[in-house]
Amino acid sequence: MGKNKKSSVPSEEHLVLPSHSALADADTPYAIVDTHTHLISTFSSYRSKYKNGQFGTVFDFVRGLYHGRNVEAIVDVWCEAPVQKIWRSIADSALTEESRRDKWSGIEYWFVMGVHPHESSQYTDNVEADILEAMAHPRCVGWGEIGLDYHYDNSPRDIQQAVFVRQLKQAVRLGKPLTIHTREAEADTEHILKEHVPKDHRIHVHCYTDSPEWAARMLDHFPNLYIGVTGVITYSTNANTSAVVRNFSSDPSVPLRILLETDAPFMIPSNLYDSLKNVKGRLPLCHTAMIPWTADFVANVANGDKHDNAWDAIRVLQESRQNARNMYGV
Ligand SMILES: [Zn+2]
Repeated sequence: MGKNKKSSVPSEEHLVLPSHSALADADTPYAIVDTHTHLISTFSSYRSKYKNGQFGTVFDFVRGLYHGRNVEAIVDVWCEAPVQKIWRSIADSALTEESRRDKWSGIEYWFVMGVHPHESSQYTDNVEADILEAMAHPRCVGWGEIGLDYHYDNSPRDIQQAVFVRQLKQAVRLGKPLTIHTREAEADTEHILKEHVPKDHRIHVHCYTDSPEWAARMLDHFPNLYIGVTGVITYSTNANTSAVVRNFSSDPSVPLRILLETDAPFMIPSNLYDSLKNVKGRLPLCHTAMIPWTADFVANVANGDKHDNAWDAIRVLQESRQNARNMYGV
């Protein structure tokens, strides 16, 4: 804003977003629930980009960027092996209403835990014991993100599959909702889920980028499965996620079975920059207050060529908010 900075990283005040124009004079209530965010890595990414940044703790970061933006709840994801021991102090800080008010400015902090397919090779009995301990925590709402990633193949595929099955069995035994990561592994993810998970289990296929046909088969088989939509839906390289949304909206009697998420610190919605005309360069990280831009994009996709404008960002936020409640109980 008027500053002639040479640096390509915009100054940190631009992380505090303006309200989205579709929500600015909304008279219908809405709330943002980010159903998949990596809070600690988002905060670390902030600290590494802004070494002298004003937010010194993860709580300062959340209060500074999310307060006053109708952020009602976040589902944080711990998916490293070994388990990062700080999960407990973060989760404990959300145990009482008083502490949530003081530390989180009233935002409901929830989390899921599991071992990401990239790190399957590090899955051990000790790691599993740590996850089982976390599952008993009152703020834990699911097991994930787990699954298969054949794009990067960071762990051998047979190990990814074995660890995926092992975690599914535990989660199903405990009745814990599942957060699934799958990339270029449609056939194996499908047969493993269908074999090991009861039909009525709650499943969130996070950051969806696979084919619309696969989504249709999974939605059909699992009545409590939801499609996770991140800012990746706004990218020109990805047509699949929009195709899935169009399939929902083509029939008005079909509910929009999506969950909005950021997968922060990644996946900034590209339409965000329409609202940041004065900002030079690209923001270095994504965060929960960007969700309205994803919601607005989803609404435009859902309206398609129809001229009734049945969908708007608020309706998308409301429906996915209800879905988040059904999925995670948050
Ligand atoms: Zn993730």
